[in-house]
Amino acid sequence: MLDVIVIGAGPAGVLAALRAADLGARTALITRDEFGGMAANDGPVPVRTMAQAARLIREARQLGLYGIDVREPSLDYPRLLARVRDVVNDVREHSALRGQIDSLGVTVYERAGDARFTDPHTIETESGLRLQAEKIIICTGGVSRRLSVPGSELTATHSDAWGLTSVPPSMLVIGGGATGAQVASIFNAFGSRIQLFQAGPRILPTEDEDVSAAVATAFRESGIVVRENFGEIDSFEKTPIGVRMIFSKDGARESAEAALAVVAVGWVANTAGLSLATAGVEIDHRGFVRIDDYLRTSAPHIFAAGDITGRLMLVPQAIQDGFVAATNAVRGLTMTLGDQASPIGSFTDPEYAQVGLTETKARETHDVVTVVVRFDSTTRTIIDGRTTGFCKLIADRATYKILGCHVVGDRAVEITQVAAIAIAAGMRVDDLAQIPLSFPTYAGILGRAAASAARQLNLKVIW
Ligand SMILES: Cc1cc2nc3c(=O)[nH]c(=O)nc-3n(C[C@H](O)[C@H](O)[C@H](O)COP(=O)(O)OP(=O)(O)OC[C@H]3O[C@@H](n4cnc5c(N)ncnc54)[C@H](O)[C@@H]3O)c2cc1C
Repeated sequence: MLDVIVIGAGPAGVLAALRAADLGARTALITRDEFGGMAANDGPVPVRTMAQAARLIREARQLGLYGIDVREPSLDYPRLLARVRDVVNDVREHSALRGQIDSLGVTVYERAGDARFTDPHTIETESGLRLQAEKIIICTGGVSRRLSVPGSELTATHSDAWGLTSVPPSMLVIGGGATGAQVASIFNAFGSRIQLFQAGPRILPTEDEDVSAAVATAFRESGIVVRENFGEIDSFEKTPIGVRMIFSKDGARESAEAALAVVAVGWVANTAGLSLATAGVEIDHRGFVRIDDYLRTSAPHIFAAGDITGRLMLVPQAIQDGFVAATNAVRGLTMTLGDQASPIGSFTDPEYAQVGLTETKARETHDVVTVVVRFDSTTRTIIDGRTTGFCKLIADRATYKILGCHVVGDRAVEITQVAAIAIAAGMRVDDLAQIPLSFPTYAGILGRAAASAARQLNLKVIW
């Protein structure tokens, strides 16, 4: 019998296997398909590569502004997909984690098909593997939620982008969260006519209200039709050009038609086929694996990490989960997840990102000062012709500490990393304002915002 079996080789599973082996446990890592999971094969890496193509198209269109004459860029989609495949392979080959896993003696079973529990300590796979372990860590991630309306089989998910042979001339994107917004923004840059449908009152509903509004405005200005509060979907039907969505609101029926309909309405846990009940592992009301603070499931010898737990579904959090779950599985219950500042962002046009509390949330619990510095007022954004956007900083009037930072505009994700470090370090706004950040940079906008907040709080600043 092994000490630890890890199921799923995404970021959570890889880190869990690495940590367990590093602590001396005899460890096996089983995964259905390729090493790397969603992050390497179907999520951030390929999507970010597509977003980079969209960025290059935007930047090519800007060349005239700097006196450089070029023809209008045109996209060869199959060549872009070849580039995506090259990037995915390159990232996988250069993964330092794979080398570490191998050198620590973890036995990796790739392309093993679905794994499932046959008893609380035994895992069998479709490929015929049968392994037993004292401890098991479930890291099987999630999958796109599908709609259950008539004709939903006519819709696609973001993963179907890899199988397209050309850019669809038109697209319905259903769901205005992070994934839907990225799909809409990228394919808009590629020349698709996009209609983005959001059931709620605003796209990007977990972002600060000002961020949602700014991104929706920018999307509309770039030609995307954004429909908030659009009603309820009744059905989809096939048409000569592609697919029609029929929906109704307040008793009135409407329809929208496009070559392709992409559904991005959330993420569900990848538990189907694991036979969790056989092992005594319970799921919560949303279908995610129920865990305690130690990432232990309802079965005391089984742990879970990453998207399968349904908390912040991001790579850095999956990595931390994997580390914590493996530590507790091998050493006993010694480690919990800290309450950390977690920056979140997306590579749309314009980019947006956040860390900490939204203004609405911050006002519920703190007396706050809020500062907004617009991108059209900072040197670097003016130089680069990237003047759409803003940086909003929220600070606590009592402690002067930064509670939240929300950015829309070019390099928003990178800017927010600096804010995350300031929050993690417990910096006051006047501390942040004193740091001579390089000029002219995008991150410099944070210094401006911090100085402005400090002045409002009557704190001493040098500028
Ligand atoms: C379009 C998109 C864009 C994203 N962009 C970002 C981003 O920019 N930044 C970011 O941080 N995060 C991003 N994410 C989220 C990120 O990809 C996930 O949070 C992360 O991959 C979760 O890691 P995980 O290890 O929990 O699961 P996964 O990466 O999903 O890995 C799970 C693994 O388990 C395997 N598996 C599943 N079921 C079984 C089974 N029964 N038996 C054996 N193996 C099984 C799967 O094949 C897979 O290899 C994005 C996601 C999507 C969909």
